[in-house]
Amino acid sequence: MEECIFCKIVKGEIPAKRIYEDEDYLAFHDINPQAPVHVLIIPKKHIESLNAAGEEHRALLGGLLLVAKKVAAEMNLKKGYRLVINTGPDGGQEVFHLHLHLLGGRALAWPPG
Ligand code: 5GP
Ligand code: ZN
Repeated sequence: MEECIFCKIVKGEIPAKRIYEDEDYLAFHDINPQAPVHVLIIPKKHIESLNAAGEEHRALLGGLLLVAKKVAAEMNLKKGYRLVINTGPDGGQEVFHLHLHLLGGRALAWPPG
C-alpha cells in the first residue's frame, strides 16, 4: 500500500509522536486530538479496516486490545478511557489502515455523535 499514511508512519517516512512500539504494533498521538489523551494504536501490517480482518488475524486483533490496555496504563488513565474503531463511511473512518482510538483524560459523553 504505497500511499497509506499509517504505513508511511510505520516506516518512519512521516513523523509521528510515538508512544509504544513492538514487532507488530505502533502507538502514536493523534494529530488532531479529541481529548487530552488521544492515541492511535495500529497493527504494523496493513489491514484496511475491521471489515477486512479475517480469522487469520484473530491473534493480531486480540493483541491490539492488550497493547491498548498497556498504553492506557502508561498514559496514567486511572479513571478510565474509551477505545473506538471507526469502520466504513457511517463509522466515520477516514484512514483505511485499521486503527484503535484510545481516548481519555476527561469524562467522555455517551452516546457519541
Ligand atoms: P478515523 O476517522 O479513520 O477513525 O481516524 C483517523 C485519525 O487519524 C484521525 O483522528 C486523524 O486525526 C488521524 N490522523 C490522520 N492523519 C494523521 C497523521 O498524519 N498523523 C497522525 N498522528 N494522525 C493522523
Ligand atoms: Zn497501511
